[in-house]
Amino acid sequence: MRAIRGATTVERDCAEDIRAAVAELLGKIAEENALSEEDIVCILFSGTADLVSYYPARAARDAGYTFCALYSSLEPQIEGALPRCIRVLVLAEGSGRSHHVYLRGAAGLRMDLKKIAVALDGPSGSGKSTVAKRLAAELDILYLDTGAMYRACALAALGEGCPFEEDAVQELMSRIDLRIVYRGGAQHTFLGDRDVSEEIRRPEVSMAASKISAFPCVREKMVAMQRKIASEQSCVLDGRDIGTAVLPDAEYKFFVTADAATRAARRGKELAEKGYAVDLKKLREEIEERDRNDSTRAHSPLRRAEDAVLVDTSDMTVDEVVAAIRKKIGEKLG
Ligand code: C5P
Repeated sequence: MRAIRGATTVERDCAEDIRAAVAELLGKIAEENALSEEDIVCILFSGTADLVSYYPARAARDAGYTFCALYSSLEPQIEGALPRCIRVLVLAEGSGRSHHVYLRGAAGLRMDLKKIAVALDGPSGSGKSTVAKRLAAELDILYLDTGAMYRACALAALGEGCPFEEDAVQELMSRIDLRIVYRGGAQHTFLGDRDVSEEIRRPEVSMAASKISAFPCVREKMVAMQRKIASEQSCVLDGRDIGTAVLPDAEYKFFVTADAATRAARRGKELAEKGYAVDLKKLREEIEERDRNDSTRAHSPLRRAEDAVLVDTSDMTVDEVVAAIRKKIGEKLG
């Protein structure tokens, strides 16, 4: 037995739209799974609470699915749910892989079925990494923290006492053994055999990362690695130049920001939780200095891509930011 899932959305809550949407969805499911009438045992539908004008099961009968059991139910009204959505479960004889089908606005429910890239750029402490992590988990796709890569370059330089000068940095980059590995869905950054994921979060590494990331030879190498990872699977990437330089063709671009005081307070909380002593005034100065370095460097400076959606998170909770970004992604897909 195969269990094939699918979903779609409709423009309006009316019989005509529900009939067309159900016929399209079932047609696609049958096509992609090579189903014949004999294979289909039953079809179960659920519709969101805002779809009350026609039963999806009746729409299926109208479309000729009279040879199998049909059933519809109404979902509860849930805040933030995708509007006017019809979900389906088709049970069919046979074995083999099921090809689930998500159409129109519902395509956003299963980003893992379509290769996409979400670019989240913004300054330090804007909350973008927390948001990017959550977003990737909710969309069930990979999260790539590109800042970790620049941090690892900086850590390698600091560890060797490498001067932050073009020739020395270039030489370091020619032999750096930097790898990104995923374990249990979490990103680990390696320098050779050493997992440096924690070490790269040290405050002195932040400032060094900001300096080393201005060297074109560093950026070229990191950008090539980032593009390769993004070409192999769907991911959310956070950084400074994802929407402008790394993946200028990304379909979903956001520029996440917050005022400097809020950003310093957030970074301070994060560091305090890790046991570091925090001087908020100094932290704010450092954040502003990193902003300056990042936005004024000649190569790929921090700036909002023209087609990126601006999200000011100063007065928003993480939940609100994630919901706002998911909504935008859903609207674009719809
Ligand atoms: O995001 P995070 O604070 O970990 O990044 C550390 C530093 O790496 C930033 O201050 C920035 O200078 C650099 N960076 C960059 N481009 C990226 C990601 C980070 O230049 N895509």
